[in-house]
Amino acid sequence: MTASHTALQDAAQLFAELTGDRPEGIWSSAGRANLIGEHTDYNEGFVLPFAIQYRTYAAARIRQDGVLRVASTFAPGAVELPVAELVSTFGGSAGAAVASRAVPEWAAYPLGVAWAALTAAGRSEADVPGVDIAIASDVPVGAGLSSSAAIEGSVAAALNDLWRLDLAPLDLAKAGRRAENEAVGAPTGIMDQVSSIMGRADAATFLDCRTLETRSVDLGLEREGLVLLAIDTRVEHAHASGGYRDRRAACERGAAALGVPSLRDVTGADLDRARDLLDDVTFRRVRHIVTENQRVLDTVAALAAAGPRAIGELLVASHASMRDDFEISVPELDTAVEAALEAGAIGARMTGGGFGGSAVALVEASAVDAVADAAVRAFADRGYTAPHAFTVLPSEGARRDS
Ligand code: ADP
Ligand code: MG
Repeated sequence: MTASHTALQDAAQLFAELTGDRPEGIWSSAGRANLIGEHTDYNEGFVLPFAIQYRTYAAARIRQDGVLRVASTFAPGAVELPVAELVSTFGGSAGAAVASRAVPEWAAYPLGVAWAALTAAGRSEADVPGVDIAIASDVPVGAGLSSSAAIEGSVAAALNDLWRLDLAPLDLAKAGRRAENEAVGAPTGIMDQVSSIMGRADAATFLDCRTLETRSVDLGLEREGLVLLAIDTRVEHAHASGGYRDRRAACERGAAALGVPSLRDVTGADLDRARDLLDDVTFRRVRHIVTENQRVLDTVAALAAAGPRAIGELLVASHASMRDDFEISVPELDTAVEAALEAGAIGARMTGGGFGGSAVALVEASAVDAVADAAVRAFADRGYTAPHAFTVLPSEGARRDS
């Protein structure tokens, strides 16, 4: 990809500006999109995301003075923190270092990863040298493609090598989540980090959010001449935080009423009883989670048995469930999905938390332009702001690039 190539060069160039030197290496990790499994993560269920071709690069080199210094093309100025102050800076209450302005928010991602990875490896501050890190990315920030997991994964991969931490990919993902939860103060699950770091080309990553079991699942898109097209509706996630809280609360309410620790423990066979016990809204929230978990499992099975053409109906059913039962879609997302299907997409669904953001469509490579054009026309007909369509290519996760 030309774009990735440029971000890699940008990281090297920023490193040269920062240090007057060349980096010891450049590491990167990917953005991600979700194929299926929405709002199942905090219900200890199943998700099936994939790493995408947009990446964040960290050019890095050891320093001899015990100082960590991070810079990014995303924000002006470098931020310095002695390794010896990592624990005192980030070991307190969640987000405190950012709230007190001791560390700018963006720098709490890479510096928080340094703290979390060091801690996870059981190493002490005195044990590791300082590092210069220059970061550049072509993952759009705040667009639902998880630029946050990509920066975390790139820095985790760099420090794992430079500090010889010997952490496994899942440990790096956990360090990324801990940085985001505790250093930045953003309460998120581990799906983004797992898919950013553990992705493989032409594959998705199955994640069991209860056991943290992961499995690479071949998609077979190349073999079948298929492409995944993202359609960004340009609708901001206006009700995202309130809606998210509300849906989470409904899931907790449903689980409590059904006497289970989480909706992971409810199956399709329990839904009749659930309908009797729960009010209509809570029941439909529960039904989405229960059926979505099953759709993730069915998608994995269908991919293995019959390949990617067999998952279209599951994607469509997932969208209907989010629209009708979980009620997190918006007219623009429904329009994108309907237009894509009418133009011949094999399947399509909204992806991400909902209330805006993107849809993803599974299409014949030869029909990409037709599907994208159909979405643009449908939006124009309804007077919506033009959507932005782009292919998302299931790609490799964290790696050393040079
Ligand atoms: P998303 O992950 O959907 O892109 P988030 O709000 O979770 O959105 O994460 C975005 C934040 O992550 C940014 O506001 C910034 O603080 C940090 N971030 C992401 N990419 C970079 C980068 N390349 N350089 C510095 N900070 C970054
Ligand atoms: Mg994020």
